[in-house]
Amino acid sequence: FLKGKTALVTGSTSGIGAAYAKALAGAGAAVMINGFGDDDAIARQCADLSAASGAAALHDGADMTKPETIAAMVARCHEELGGPDIVINNAGIQHVAPVADFPIDKWDAIIAINLTSAFHVMRAAVPLMRKAGWGRIISTASAHSLVASPNKSAYVAAKHGVVGLTKTVALETATDGITVNCISPGYVWTGLVENQIPDTMAARGLTREQVVNDVLLAAQPTKEFVTPEQVAAFALFLCRDEAASVTGANLSMDGGWTTA
Ligand code: NAD
Repeated sequence: FLKGKTALVTGSTSGIGAAYAKALAGAGAAVMINGFGDDDAIARQCADLSAASGAAALHDGADMTKPETIAAMVARCHEELGGPDIVINNAGIQHVAPVADFPIDKWDAIIAINLTSAFHVMRAAVPLMRKAGWGRIISTASAHSLVASPNKSAYVAAKHGVVGLTKTVALETATDGITVNCISPGYVWTGLVENQIPDTMAARGLTREQVVNDVLLAAQPTKEFVTPEQVAAFALFLCRDEAASVTGANLSMDGGWTTA
């Protein structure tokens, strides 16, 4: 149902972003992926996406801390692939430290990548979507857009900010055929999470099962990780015409975390 449409997904060389790109290509969209990684792996990912969609797939290496490269990426997408009809703001990083010790450069990087980059993408993409009379803007927020955890000041502030940005742009575009929403996952099983397990096992003398259930999934009542594919399927629904009335929403997908 996305044949002839173009999607731009930031931070899509791994994890949730890669799953969004795969799902969008699977529905027929041309895709521009973004993010860091090994050149060969990125080339293979583009080839796989193109094979799945029957349309083009390109990578743009724009650094989400650099406003001018973000605007250039949106313009390049428009020129080389068309659209973007769908943008997904997904690039994100984390740093964990108490506020008094929080490194200033980490604060600045998290606010830039996890919040401000979404503003720059929307700023560049909204006029193009208005011209087309159709658009879907989705941002990966987090359960941390609704609740806090200690030692995550920058991440929690950025994710709360993404929700405010989303609501505002949803109102500004409400009569333009454009919807603007956030998906807020709880713990998602990505390489990032998986890689933490051996270290935590060693550091705390716990079994793998204890790390998963008592540390990672302590806040998630289902005791199940969200999967990147589930998040991507949710995003795909938001791209459907049936989802035209879903706008300005922060949609939780967190195994009950934020209801507890
Ligand atoms: P990930 O590390 O697998 O993916 C992050 C992506 O962002 C990668 O493609 C990386 O190259 C890219 N990236 C990082 N810095 C960048 C920069 N400066 N410029 C451009 N790209 C950059 O992580 P993930 O778990 O898939 O996270 C994706 C998003 O989902 C993030 O916004 C994260 O906050 C959010 N999220 C993750 C979880 C989870 O449990 N994994 C939960 C809720 C929300």
